[in-house]
Amino acid sequence: MERSFKKEVEALRLGDGETFRGEGILAVTKALLQSGVSYVGGYQGAPVSHLLDVLVDAEDMMSELGVHLETCSNEASAAAMLGASINYPLRGAVTWKSIVGTNVAADALSYLSSPGVTGGALIIIGEDYGEGASVAQERSYAYALKSSMWLLDPRPDLPSIVRSVEKGFELSEASHAPVMLELRIRACHATGEFAAKDNRKGEKSGLDKLAGPPRFEYGRLAHPPATFNQERLKIEERLPAARAFIREEKLNETIEGDLADIGIVVMGGLTNSVLRALERVGLADVFGSSRVPILVLNVVYPLVPEEITAFCATKRAVLIVEEGFPDFIEQAVNVELRRADIQTRVYGKGPLPKAGEYASDVLLDGLAAFLQAARPAGLDADTVAEKARGLIAHKPKAAAALGPLPPRPPAFCTGCPERPVFSALKLMQRELGPTHISADIGCHSFATFAPFSMGNSILGYGMSLASAAAVGPNMQKRPIAVMGDGGFWHNGLITGVASNLFNKGDGVLIVMQNGYTSATGQQYMPSSKASRMGAAPGMDIEQTLRAMGVKWMRTVRTYSVSKMVATLKEAMKTAERGLKVIIADGECMLARQRRIRAEDAEKLKRGERVTRARYGVDDEICTGDHSCIRLSGCPSLTLKPSPDPLRTDPVATVVESCVGCGLCGEVAHAAVLCPSFYRAEIVRNATWRDRVLFRLRQRVIGWLGGYNGAKAAA
Ligand code: SF4
Ligand code: SF4
Repeated sequence: MERSFKKEVEALRLGDGETFRGEGILAVTKALLQSGVSYVGGYQGAPVSHLLDVLVDAEDMMSELGVHLETCSNEASAAAMLGASINYPLRGAVTWKSIVGTNVAADALSYLSSPGVTGGALIIIGEDYGEGASVAQERSYAYALKSSMWLLDPRPDLPSIVRSVEKGFELSEASHAPVMLELRIRACHATGEFAAKDNRKGEKSGLDKLAGPPRFEYGRLAHPPATFNQERLKIEERLPAARAFIREEKLNETIEGDLADIGIVVMGGLTNSVLRALERVGLADVFGSSRVPILVLNVVYPLVPEEITAFCATKRAVLIVEEGFPDFIEQAVNVELRRADIQTRVYGKGPLPKAGEYASDVLLDGLAAFLQAARPAGLDADTVAEKARGLIAHKPKAAAALGPLPPRPPAFCTGCPERPVFSALKLMQRELGPTHISADIGCHSFATFAPFSMGNSILGYGMSLASAAAVGPNMQKRPIAVMGDGGFWHNGLITGVASNLFNKGDGVLIVMQNGYTSATGQQYMPSSKASRMGAAPGMDIEQTLRAMGVKWMRTVRTYSVSKMVATLKEAMKTAERGLKVIIADGECMLARQRRIRAEDAEKLKRGERVTRARYGVDDEICTGDHSCIRLSGCPSLTLKPSPDPLRTDPVATVVESCVGCGLCGEVAHAAVLCPSFYRAEIVRNATWRDRVLFRLRQRVIGWLGGYNGAKAAA
């Protein structure tokens, strides 16, 4: 995996009276162990990939407590795992990235929340919303509403996060409903401390197993006619029980302030951002005291009507700080105030924007507009608003002075095995003309950016082949679907391949076999060469496809650009109908480099010979047309001024970060560009043979071209 937590997980053993210091996701794991969880699972995805990584690294400790860990093949299997809590007093927690993961899990979540749970069921979702997000911008809140699951959004500090996990289980059991806990990216990586408690075993677990199933009870099945009663239970029993628990346990907090005729109602996860904005205009301090009263909603669904009306009743105006759209909370607050005939004016989307992340500047601007509209007694609202706007006024001026900055989209890592496939696609399309390319989720989606700019649609993880189903029959050329091996096992095998074979589709599928779910941090998956248990899981993409009935299949090493071009052309032109699969094979370079670096360091320590390949461009031969850069897109291949005073065009050059993958040379060969590229080998702990060979080469090259070996060696 991308990051190891082997050292940090030792802190998970801390007990009563000790202080835990660390990162948000470690705190979540500690809270799970303190809560007597019996099973955990999930599917990786930022911002909670590391939570699953921590759970894997803490597996030994969890097995001491009898906690079962499942690294699920997708979010649907993780959600279905929570079925263990329907009948049994087993506390369980699963995790994934939302909104996408919740979309995949939605079916199982509906069928979990309908009968409800006996043991506490907690779903820890990484809410991937805002500027750093990599998914469709939607809110998980809608799922909480539609399925009657409760949604916690704790303040991003460790004591609040830990309390939310612990109380989340209790809330789930008190109301018999699953509970979602959303963590934004900042909460996952927030660091801090909290007073630890002893870890405890679950009521039932791998150490104290259940004797057998319960007495058969039809009402525990999400199946008619039980579902009709379950719908009633959700509304008439579970919702009031949840509200009572939230109120009694004071899960939401109020920060008192002297500007008592106004207030702010904030989603817990945005509390620190709001306090920071208030602090910047002198209305709060760095310790969290505020002059504006604040109702912090650590539980954003369900809202507790009494808490809303009690907070608002004495205020002329409140600002709802609710990121994203629709404005569920703002609407609910308006409804509760009308029902209670309270005339407090509600501001929200208006001073604050309807869409986008509520970053610091956005909040300052929104706060200024709110204060000027609400005009609280005892405050010169115009002066504060002027100060708030003054804090951000320089930014448009600075942006104008700088002019447009070049965009810096994410890109493939240097030496990525997936890049050559897109070079080959480019070359194939030069000859056969453009065709529809359905892209997918994963590192290969970087090919949608320049210099490849390839991909006509992205419909979700593992969905590329399925998304081309209606394109193929309506297009003269065969469409090409690109899918990673992570996407293949996540969803693509059934949703794409089985459906295509069943419907006798005639497209081309490229499966990028790099060995890991790389984009999420290099976790193992069914066809990896190893697993968290050590040995390979033993599932093979080629064998699986053959067993399913795929007849046309080729496995091509990704760096063999010429061969890949020829294979693509064959797939596009063959008279054979049916699905054509190209397995593009090449280990994720990032993972490979990490592996090799460690192996090389060991060899160097033992005094053994270690070689590293580097590529270069001969200045004198490079024509300066830069085709190699446009075709490979490698960040290590760049420009430098031509050393020839008679040529003004810059020449291509390879910089220090080159990992020697060979793509640039391959592309130059496949595209018949130029013979400028050369390969060199850097040898460390050279043997006597290496040294003799080096001297011999120096001599021969010197005789042929006047090479000054002595100067080069210096
Ligand atoms: S993580 Fe691996 S597969 Fe992804 S871009 Fe980097 S090298 Fe390529
Ligand atoms: S410069 Fe060439 S050999 Fe080096 S990493 Fe880039 S494509 Fe690979």
